Amino acid sequence: MKAPKDQHFLIDFDAVNRIADTVPVAGRNVLEIGPGGGVLTEALLARGANVRAVELDGTLLPNLEERFCEELKSGQLTITRGDASKVELPPFDLVVANLPYSISSKITFRLLDIGFESAVLMYQLEFAKRMAAAFGDKEYGRLSVMAQTYSDVEFVMELPPNAFNPQPEVWSAVVKITPHEPPVPIKNKKVFEDVVRELFSHRRKTVRNCLKSLGKKYNIDNLMTNISEEILNLRPEMLSVEKFIEMSNLIE
Ligand code: SAM
Repeated sequence: MKAPKDQHFLIDFDAVNRIADTVPVAGRNVLEIGPGGGVLTEALLARGANVRAVELDGTLLPNLEERFCEELKSGQLTITRGDASKVELPPFDLVVANLPYSISSKITFRLLDIGFESAVLMYQLEFAKRMAAAFGDKEYGRLSVMAQTYSDVEFVMELPPNAFNPQPEVWSAVVKITPHEPPVPIKNKKVFEDVVRELFSHRRKTVRNCLKSLGKKYNIDNLMTNISEEILNLRPEMLSVEKFIEMSNLIE
């Protein structure tokens, strides 16, 4: 049976410690999305982090409030009740979280939009692989381009289902995300997003054929005259992040 509200609690304490030790957290404001029973919260507090937790499930709050009453009193811990993909988030420098998988994409791009120094986040393994895939890899796609345009994505570790209770059906992975500026300045973010979406919605087609569909929405004359034959004949998964940006910058 599927656990309600993505509730798979981490029971592998080595993994908890490795996650909490991935970036130095002492004295920093650390956003934790979905503290659940508080296993990661406790590890972060023990390392001197100021934890800013956001939890959707109100039934978990009495336990968290009892377990961390001292830290709540001192302000080392705050808990906001709500959906982390929607609520106003408290100020934070770092993010460390075993994420609810149903909001992985939404929350990741929301966080990148807000900005942070680095994030240590747990995803479904397949999702993490797609985020980190290099061009030419079979997992390389829209998520890889969009994530790597705005950040470095590094694998920290993989976790089997039995690291959690209840066990999920899939493996998980922890990644470290470090935001950066796009490798080439983007003239228009909306056009860039449309180019990436359009090209990856026809993975088996060549860039030339994908661009034909894009031509229904945008004037692509400038793009078509300035793009090489070699690129036009490639499939989209062979294009680097820089190439996607350069192509979108040629659209008027
Ligand atoms: N951090 C805990 C751990 O590692 O054991 C729990 C992780 S569990 C995978 C995900 C947690 O996120 C649950 O506590 C769940 O209630 C909470 N959650 C689910 N959807 C959420 C959302 N939209 N916003 C904030 N928390 C959410």
